[in-house]
Amino acid sequence: MLLGPPGAGKGTQAGLMAERYGIPHISTGDILREAVKQGTGLGRCAEEYMSKGELVPDEIVIGIVAQRLEQADCKNGFLLDGFPRTVAQAKALDAELEERHAGLDAVVSLEAEESELVRRLGCRRVCTRCAAIYPSAGPEPPSEMCKACGGELVTRADDRPEAVRRRLQVYKAQTEPLIQYYSTKGILLPIRAMGTVEEVFSRVSEALDRVWARDVH
Ligand code: AMP
Repeated sequence: MLLGPPGAGKGTQAGLMAERYGIPHISTGDILREAVKQGTGLGRCAEEYMSKGELVPDEIVIGIVAQRLEQADCKNGFLLDGFPRTVAQAKALDAELEERHAGLDAVVSLEAEESELVRRLGCRRVCTRCAAIYPSAGPEPPSEMCKACGGELVTRADDRPEAVRRRLQVYKAQTEPLIQYYSTKGILLPIRAMGTVEEVFSRVSEALDRVWARDVH
């Protein structure tokens, strides 16, 4: 599972991790954004919360994840990105995994300074078609076309400054307590998320490889 404040690079790292370890990347943010795009009942309900930087109610996201974990591609493992975000969600996940006689191997906790988070969120673009994330290192916006699929690149509604401020507050109040929650369980891997995407990914994969090497021996 990936834990970290908005802008820490969860989505970017999750894409790389899913590829390296051959497991599905489950992002509740992506699932909700897709529902918003499709205009489903779930999407209409979620949009109200998301556009303001608030969390979507626990029972909704818990239901989404429980359903997703039922799918066959999750049988040999999965990567959760952006879930759980509250202690209630973490407890529901524990119960869900216990029922499946499964458990979390590791919680990768991405850590970055707040000024860097605000900077990253202010300049990133996402693809409206395939959800690829384009971080921008400098003040120039990246090219407005997705390199992977040619889709349009936009600023996420919740990357606007008012929503970013709220998301950081919500993270501190509701999600940060999960660091303690998983630290107590002994599965937290704190990772410094400053530097390039490649530098962060090599820290993440070294830490995870150590966990799995230890579990094998
Ligand atoms: P993300 O792409 O993970 O930053 O999520 C974008 C937005 O989707 C969040 O700011 C929330 O509004 C909503 N969201 C995603 N995951 C959750 C979750 N686990 N619990 C509640 N809301 C969520």
